[in-house]
Amino acid sequence: MTRRQLIDVVLRETRPLKYPRGRRLPLYVWALRGAPPEADDAALEGLLRELDARGMALLAPWATGKRRDKALAAALRLARAQKKLGLSVGVDAIRPLYAFFNGTPETAHIDAQGNRFFDESFHSKRRIGCPFAVQGRFPIIREQVEFFADAYRKAGLPIDFIFSDWEIDGPIEWNAGWETAKRCVRCRKQIPDIDDFRSFQATFRRIRAQMQRECFARPILDRFPGALAGNYGVYPNDGWRYWYDWFEDFNPALPHRFDQKEPERPWWRPEFRETNYTFAMPVLYTWYRTFDWYTFKDPDYHWFYNMLKIASNAGAHTPADVPIIPFVHHTLTRSAREPEQPHVKPMSERAYRELLWHALLRGHDDFFLWCPNDQVAHEIKPVHEVWAASLQYNDFILEGVPVTFAVPRTEGPVVSGLRLGNRILVRRTDFGPVAGPVFIKVGGKKVPIPPHPGQCSVIELPQP
Ligand SMILES: [Zn+2]
Repeated sequence: MTRRQLIDVVLRETRPLKYPRGRRLPLYVWALRGAPPEADDAALEGLLRELDARGMALLAPWATGKRRDKALAAALRLARAQKKLGLSVGVDAIRPLYAFFNGTPETAHIDAQGNRFFDESFHSKRRIGCPFAVQGRFPIIREQVEFFADAYRKAGLPIDFIFSDWEIDGPIEWNAGWETAKRCVRCRKQIPDIDDFRSFQATFRRIRAQMQRECFARPILDRFPGALAGNYGVYPNDGWRYWYDWFEDFNPALPHRFDQKEPERPWWRPEFRETNYTFAMPVLYTWYRTFDWYTFKDPDYHWFYNMLKIASNAGAHTPADVPIIPFVHHTLTRSAREPEQPHVKPMSERAYRELLWHALLRGHDDFFLWCPNDQVAHEIKPVHEVWAASLQYNDFILEGVPVTFAVPRTEGPVVSGLRLGNRILVRRTDFGPVAGPVFIKVGGKKVPIPPHPGQCSVIELPQP
């Protein structure tokens, strides 16, 4: 599909907003990244207005190498049109962050015999090297970012939102990461207690955060202090991660603790802060392996439980002034590493829509829809409809405080809510057989939450 065809699918499957967006961020969509498809400025502005009427924005992808001059011209043209219309100027900074580990011998680990080697356990084409041999790559990656950032500044254009999807690059402690580092003389010397996983992990993650801070976040924020900058999968947390990326495998030799059959992994808590990012990007996907982690009777609760855990983790640990913009995806997310299993029952669209609501009612601010292009016709509808309907509660979503992050360990009613003064905006979603009334505790008081399927309610708190 061409960029224009993709945009047309998004326009066809969505309706103009019923409630004003106000101070809420635009809804971000993976398909809406690309060079402006319209050659004529008036037509481009018309298209941007049509998207804005639906609350959505086009993001300009930055490029590297031979493609970057052309990408810059297209990006500046889009930014100019967005600035003229008073719209948010947004950037897709995926390309410029690759690749620190470019596969050259200088970036490799090194063993006692002087042999150079890489960790290839994440991807056959990505040679992950030594974190103590990558500093020479910093100026190159930073330049790839600054080239664009300086051009925006010179042109008097702002950057309001910039994200990246920087994943299989830089040090990663999972898969064979630990055992590979233990064979490297340089890693052993620099990490004296390398046999202690948490200490090893802290060193790896600190360098990984430094790479993102010095080559991406700082170059942007020093030029555009108000910009929202973030990266896929980087968000404040409770020191645990409740999902595996498509390139990560469960390695029983690494520390973990089980929740049913889910192997929860210890995470390095300061990661988000050390990157200097200004918005959080948790990942709420229906990862294929999630289904078999739990024994709940209701198939939907397998997905919902896991995604609510992740959403609550980010919600509970992210400061109120840092927006949470989770990547979301409804269609089963199965990697080529995973064989198809007939017993895995996909998440219903109803449960997915409920999950999106509960994320908003637990401190999330917005969504970033990720999906392959051939899924956009299906994927755009639930996320856009939930997000657009949530605009009627902007006062709660912008200023309200979450009343609970509880994730019920058995199927039953799930309640989320935002408190604003004497009122709470609540939503209750029932899984499995439901017994009796449900109460939540707000300000030391037990508040009854009646069933109201598929709806939010505003409840007045009882006067003291
Ligand atoms: Zn090394």
